[in-house]
Amino acid sequence: MEKILFLSHTEKDGFLSAHALEALGAAAQLREQMGGDLVVGLFGGRVETAQVRGAVYSVSGDAFAMARYATDAAAGEQICKAAAATIVIAPGTSRMSRAFSGIAARCGASVDSHVTGLEVKDGALIITRWYYRQRLQARMTRASRPWFLSIDSGVFAPFADAGDTVIERLESPVDASLTRTVVKGIQAPHTDAQTIKPDAMTLFVAGAGWTKKQSDGRPHVREAADLILGFLQKSGASLGSTKSLVDLQGEGQEVLPFMTHLNQVGQTGSTPRHQKGLAACCHGEEPHVVGWRFINERRAINLDANCGWARGKADVLYVADAFQVMELVNELLSE
Ligand SMILES: Cc1cc2nc3c(=O)[nH]c(=O)nc-3n(C[C@H](O)[C@H](O)[C@H](O)COP(=O)(O)OP(=O)(O)OC[C@H]3O[C@@H](n4cnc5c(N)ncnc54)[C@H](O)[C@@H]3O)c2cc1C
Repeated sequence: MEKILFLSHTEKDGFLSAHALEALGAAAQLREQMGGDLVVGLFGGRVETAQVRGAVYSVSGDAFAMARYATDAAAGEQICKAAAATIVIAPGTSRMSRAFSGIAARCGASVDSHVTGLEVKDGALIITRWYYRQRLQARMTRASRPWFLSIDSGVFAPFADAGDTVIERLESPVDASLTRTVVKGIQAPHTDAQTIKPDAMTLFVAGAGWTKKQSDGRPHVREAADLILGFLQKSGASLGSTKSLVDLQGEGQEVLPFMTHLNQVGQTGSTPRHQKGLAACCHGEEPHVVGWRFINERRAINLDANCGWARGKADVLYVADAFQVMELVNELLSE
């Protein structure tokens, strides 16, 4: 019989992020399929348990408020050893991912990351994960235990069955040697807004066309920036880019100031998961569109009726000037 531990850090407010709740949903679903026990292990500056149910091991205090390998790994190790679980499930957040393999090593466990599926066949757990930028899908199982699994976001339904919890607060494993590293601040890319939002319903992808000469023979980059930021603000959409648009910076051309390589979607960029996608001024070349494979409803705006989107890559193509279309869309969203 397996014993499943859900392990996560909490956020500043002491609660779990949307990604962590999805990983907890995955753990709960696995327990339904396999039977056995599910326990919860949380660490952070504050630990609130209102979103979870059952037995909870917690490690909290100021030392755990910041993402720091030494303290996160010590807290995770303490929880995992107290829970003595055979399967440990965690959200693949950047904070968790930094410490997770270290915790697994300290517990003598095997670890797999970027898990997108959990299935039980003939009593054995089988995980699914992608390789080679989402081109190969592997189904894997392991006989060794403990088995640590970090879960990708946007795959499982968030856990929403909170109830009574029995909390066992573990002693803080902190000593001076663990707190020598101090996080003094965060240096983020220079952006006017936080544009990448994995939880957004819609992905808006801007292509190089926004910076190209328009029908009057001149580029209108500032106007493009206002239209794009206006749409993001009004719709709450996440911002993606083509490779050509983010590469322009290196070529000395006038660029959209809030766009970085982190926004790039495609073969050499990201493969985001959103319900809907809208591409504007983007040609729809295969190396770009391959990054759209998890976007369910796709629309594009392009002046060219023969662009890549017209060749079966979008559900709807608006053959139109994106400047005019987005101005109208922003007006409608303001109403
Ligand atoms: C190995 C390899 C890997 C690659 N990886 C990636 C990747 O990860 N991601 C990626 O994006 N690309 C990638 N590429 C590049 C990719 O092949 C394309 O070159 C790139 O995506 C083109 O970007 P774009 O559509 O923004 O620009 P363009 O091809 O220049 O297209 C601009 C489009 O804007 C339209 N347009 C202009 N003005 C307007 C207007 N007013 N209204 C409406 N439409 C307008 C034009 O009609 C045109 O179709 C890769 C290429 C290779 C070889």
